Amino acid sequence: MMDDAAIRAALSQIDVVMVETTHSGNLGAAARAMKNMGLSRLVLVNPKASIDDEAIARASRAEDILHHARIVPTLNEALASANLVVGTSARSRHIPWPLLSPRELGGRVATALPAGNRIALVFGRESNGLSNEELQLCHLHVHIPTDADYSSLNVAQAIQLLCYEMRLAVTDASPDNQPAWGVEWDYPLATHEQLDGMLQHLQQTLVDIDFLDPNTPKQLMTRMRRLFQRAAPDQMEINILRGMLAQINKRLPPRAD
Ligand code: SAH
Repeated sequence: MMDDAAIRAALSQIDVVMVETTHSGNLGAAARAMKNMGLSRLVLVNPKASIDDEAIARASRAEDILHHARIVPTLNEALASANLVVGTSARSRHIPWPLLSPRELGGRVATALPAGNRIALVFGRESNGLSNEELQLCHLHVHIPTDADYSSLNVAQAIQLLCYEMRLAVTDASPDNQPAWGVEWDYPLATHEQLDGMLQHLQQTLVDIDFLDPNTPKQLMTRMRRLFQRAAPDQMEINILRGMLAQINKRLPPRAD
């Protein structure tokens, strides 16, 4: 049996990221949902509501989480140091993406946390959720199963459900459901920022070798992002890829135009 301090320590590797939340009551309810389950790290991306009396009231005794919330202007900034980024969505989207239930996510988390990874769970706006571009920054998408005709939960209730599964993932984790390769990996997984840097380098190189036409990019970079996020490269692999790209850059003749 793990004690609560150990559970809280494990769950402190998880950030709950709320994007452009408009209702302060939802901020408070989210803080309460997190604290009930032992999570503590709340990140607010460009919040449209403030931590007002309504937020404090709805937080009940979890207002410390609101006061310690990290407030950042962009989602990219919120995700910079995350090794595993999970987006949540009530709707299915155009380009297929790895889609899990909250419980299946728990299985991944049970492996990822002991390996030292930082995880970000991303939640969207009350009005229209997360944009396609925001969801594409995520390795995995989680959909909470619902009635098909009414699939959109209140954001704080969605957070409650995910936090509950995160707690179970930590407390019910047995050595049996932790494959050795997930625990004994030789290098840490790349962070969101490192993966992003490599993808930008790749994009520029593909333009330079006339593979990618910046005027008709189609979904090429989205598909490359999906490929690399699905592979979940480690930091050494990212360094090797960047070394290859740098070498290609070096061998390119200077552009005439
Ligand atoms: N009307 C919006 C839904 C916003 S609900 C839309 O159609 O996209 C606000 C947020 O709660 C969502 O962005 C998501 O983070 C979470 N959420 C709500 N219902 C969910 C579900 N069934 N599965 C996963 N996340 C959900």
